[in-house]
Amino acid sequence: MTKKNSLKIDTDLVFNILLETFPDARCELEFSTPFELLIATILSAQCTDERVNIVTASLFANANTPEGIISLGQQELENKIRSLGLFHNKAKNIFETSKILLKNFGGQVPKDVDLLRQLPGVGRKTANVVVSNAYGIPALAVDTHVFRVARRLGIAEGKTPQRVEEELKQIFPSEKWTLVHHLLIFQGRRICYARKPNCEECPLKGICAEIRNVE
Ligand code: SF4
Repeated sequence: MTKKNSLKIDTDLVFNILLETFPDARCELEFSTPFELLIATILSAQCTDERVNIVTASLFANANTPEGIISLGQQELENKIRSLGLFHNKAKNIFETSKILLKNFGGQVPKDVDLLRQLPGVGRKTANVVVSNAYGIPALAVDTHVFRVARRLGIAEGKTPQRVEEELKQIFPSEKWTLVHHLLIFQGRRICYARKPNCEECPLKGICAEIRNVE
């Protein structure tokens, strides 16, 4: 059955159009282990995935485990991620997180969102990204793109990322959560830009609430 939210947007149609538009939607951070994804996601705050990938290609060649990060030392870690914003705090958080993973989790990245959120530098969004992309556990991370696009489209109305996450999780079945996250990010990065959305060329312009509100 076709689902509609309170704004009467056909969410199945939104999903299908986005999937047709972005059949290759996926996590754009490069990683080969849960730990690498955890570190890449911490590093991605206020940075593009492209820049993070450049930095992690070099970093992970030297250190891609908690032990490796500890051996590197916090100062050298800082030097390696210096080209990214907030590098001092990110290095501190990654170093502390590595220590905690070794001490409390046998060096493994936990699969539990609540446990992940106790690690320095790991918020709700990062924890959801890690469990869904590294472990295939249903989770729906709401970053700035997902938040903006979902609200503009009218498939969510929440005023906080957590509220939007709850709304999207009620609309879509759990097996689609990770893909919904990627599709909305692709839409936000490639068409529905923050400052100037490209509504003219948007495949959703016929159903988008933002368009209907200004007409
Ligand atoms: S029609 Fe415009 S505001 Fe709506 S999703 Fe597309 S780009 Fe964004």
